[in-house]
Amino acid sequence: MSGALARRSLDGLSVGDALGRCSSLTADWEELRATRRVPAAPWHWTDDTAMAEVIVRELELRGSIDVDALAIAFADRFAREPQRGYGAVAYHVLTRIHEGVPWRQIASSVFSGQGSLGNGGAMRSAPIGGFFREDVERVVREAEASALPTHVHPDGRAGAIAAAVAAYAASNALPILPTVLEHTPPGDTRAGLERALGLADVSPLEAARALGTGIHVRSDDTVPFALWCASRHAGDFEASLWACLDGLETPDADRDTLLAIVGGVAALAPRAVIPPAWLGAREPLGGRVHPND
Ligand SMILES: [Mg+2]
Repeated sequence: MSGALARRSLDGLSVGDALGRCSSLTADWEELRATRRVPAAPWHWTDDTAMAEVIVRELELRGSIDVDALAIAFADRFAREPQRGYGAVAYHVLTRIHEGVPWRQIASSVFSGQGSLGNGGAMRSAPIGGFFREDVERVVREAEASALPTHVHPDGRAGAIAAAVAAYAASNALPILPTVLEHTPPGDTRAGLERALGLADVSPLEAARALGTGIHVRSDDTVPFALWCASRHAGDFEASLWACLDGLETPDADRDTLLAIVGGVAALAPRAVIPPAWLGAREPLGGRVHPND
């Protein structure tokens, strides 16, 4: 087990999350992007980073994911800073868990009893692939467990598995998409990953149009393009994130989550370097102790 690799993935994830958020708020973003310049500091991160940090802390504390404990830790973290950009359904689920409703009950009740197949399980799971980098079966089990408090639908779980296995593959210098396809259960997310594997020679914009950019905030329209970007530029953190940003032509793309997934995976490649200036621009991890601080 490697807490250091989980932390490294969290750094990449949070830088991606924060840069993605900033890119949607910066007036001259297109000019910056065209010249490969990034927005001025500070880059504030969102719920993706808040929840991923909870996962890393739980792994450091317990050595594995205890779903009941994770659900309470997610809800406590949410209650401290509910304005971090949580989606409406996650907001509802975490509010109820914080009120004492068991996660099994509330997470299974949403979307007419099917549970969420959103991208929230995938946005936070990459550090698990670093933590268990020597055991891919463990990565699959722990990633699936990490999705459950908010995403019980099989495809929501598949997204969490895919992002964590991608991080495992990156840290072991294995081909990302083929390795992910070996371990991701059948469903719409896996179908998108299969299409991504066939898009080796297209531009980021073409890949984004074919695979989706999180407009529906689902796992299957978010994870395939994110992992296509990480796979295309494996070993190069900056190039992976720029590829993702080059694919985003509409304002309603789920920028922070796409880049969180790319960053959490790309940071683990053996030669990857997170630019120190980007880490410095990112708001420090941890957040405020109290929302009114
Ligand atoms: Mg977010």
